[in-house]
Amino acid sequence: MSKTGLTLPIDIEAVKGFMDPVEGAALHDAAFGMADRGPVMEIGSYCGKSTVYLGAACKARGALLYALDHHRGSEENQPGWEHHDPGTWDAKAGAMDTLPFFRDTLRRAGLEDTVIAIVTKSRLAARHWNIPLSMLFIDGGHALEMALIDYRGFSGHVMQGGILAIHDIFPDPRDGGQAPYEIYRLALASGMFEELAMVKSLGLLRRILV
Ligand code: SAH
Ligand code: MG
Repeated sequence: MSKTGLTLPIDIEAVKGFMDPVEGAALHDAAFGMADRGPVMEIGSYCGKSTVYLGAACKARGALLYALDHHRGSEENQPGWEHHDPGTWDAKAGAMDTLPFFRDTLRRAGLEDTVIAIVTKSRLAARHWNIPLSMLFIDGGHALEMALIDYRGFSGHVMQGGILAIHDIFPDPRDGGQAPYEIYRLALASGMFEELAMVKSLGLLRRILV
């Protein structure tokens, strides 16, 4: 049982990552409500913390979760930056590698038959993407260029009535970077999405039915 009363298949506190339990529970509940309509996708898995919340919901609904990450870390995860974890350094590659942690999380959480890992840059994955999504969760690179690639590459694949969730929304720049908030505002300005809820820094939008 997590802090929120949600029962997860793994001790979520022990998984490395950046997902608050209250936000994670909201992600879980949103996916649980949507996943009978089609697959869910997350951009930015890191070591699988958010993947467990989304994956547990998908598993319960018999749905699939696409989990996209190049596993080389975002800017703020690199050595010398605030969110660097030396345990994720792969000396052979001379780069970060979170894939072994991610894979271990999936195995321990019993999610290997639910989660399809896509290990590449979101720009590449977007090129031929053609699968409608019941829910899309964007939590990848937080540089504006990266957030725009994720938003432009995938938000159009969210089905009508489906959910677009964006993490790390900080309307006040003193609280954090602005790129996720920028794409959140773009989504609203597009006329394709309407506000559903804001849970801490997790913004939930619904694709409008036309
Ligand atoms: N959702 C995670 C945290 C994600 S951190 C959790 O719950 O803990 C952001 C992740 O996005 C990093 O793992 C990084 O490798 C990935 N990422 C950043 N830019 C990316 C890109 N352009 N394509 C694919 N993955 C990217
Ligand atoms: Mg985040």
